[in-house]
Amino acid sequence: MRIEDIDPPREQPGATTAILKSLEAHHLFWDGDVLYQSQRSDAYRDALIALESQQLSYRCTCSRQDLQSDAIYNGHCRHLNLGKERVSAIRLNVEKSLHTLNLNPVIEFDDVFQSKQQQNLLSDVGDFVIHRKDGLFAYQLAVVVDDIFQNITHVIRGADLLDSTARQILLFQLLGTDLNLSPVPTFGHVPLVTNNEGQKLSKQNLAPALDDNTPEKNIFNALQFLQQQPPIELETESLNTILNWAIRYWQPIQGEIRSP
Ligand SMILES: [Zn+2]
Repeated sequence: MRIEDIDPPREQPGATTAILKSLEAHHLFWDGDVLYQSQRSDAYRDALIALESQQLSYRCTCSRQDLQSDAIYNGHCRHLNLGKERVSAIRLNVEKSLHTLNLNPVIEFDDVFQSKQQQNLLSDVGDFVIHRKDGLFAYQLAVVVDDIFQNITHVIRGADLLDSTARQILLFQLLGTDLNLSPVPTFGHVPLVTNNEGQKLSKQNLAPALDDNTPEKNIFNALQFLQQQPPIELETESLNTILNWAIRYWQPIQGEIRSP
């Protein structure tokens, strides 16, 4: 169990406790201790130092205006050797990283649910930020450092993160140190539940909170909604019986799912 509270200003007070309580109320338990990203700064810093010492990263002082938001970074600061004295972001030198690992720029992976995927890190992504200008560690760096630390073998998550996977595969190979294990986990991206505007259901989009007092009903409704076709008699069964049915009969679904 990992709480990705890397962006403290955005976090609502009490949100973490509510998430953990909600999971427990639905009998969705986890192994080991909870890992909080807010307490992992030393590990993220070590990763930044490791990349910097191999000269695989560099500081970038470009402002938001210098960068066109959707465009690929033009490499303006790549060879300027900027120091720490000015407020700067840190970017990964993608071309040099690929070269160090002897990798092709086209990163390919077999997604469990979306079949073969590929992305060209040079032409589609470019030198991406691993430490933000505002001092926060970038999501891409933090998740990979934590996945390695927690020995994650399968990353199953929402399809909104499909586009981040190639970058993370590169970081896994740069930061994974156990030579006996493949550093890259298996990835599976599941469809998101969205509202009528195609936005994912979340607090930001004002989706109502889950009622922890009705876990049986919630899980049963979720199974129906996710097109798993639970038998109607399951509706009045215990939470564990419903969950065991789900584990046994779960079938992956394709495409986007609209909320009712
Ligand atoms: Zn720059």
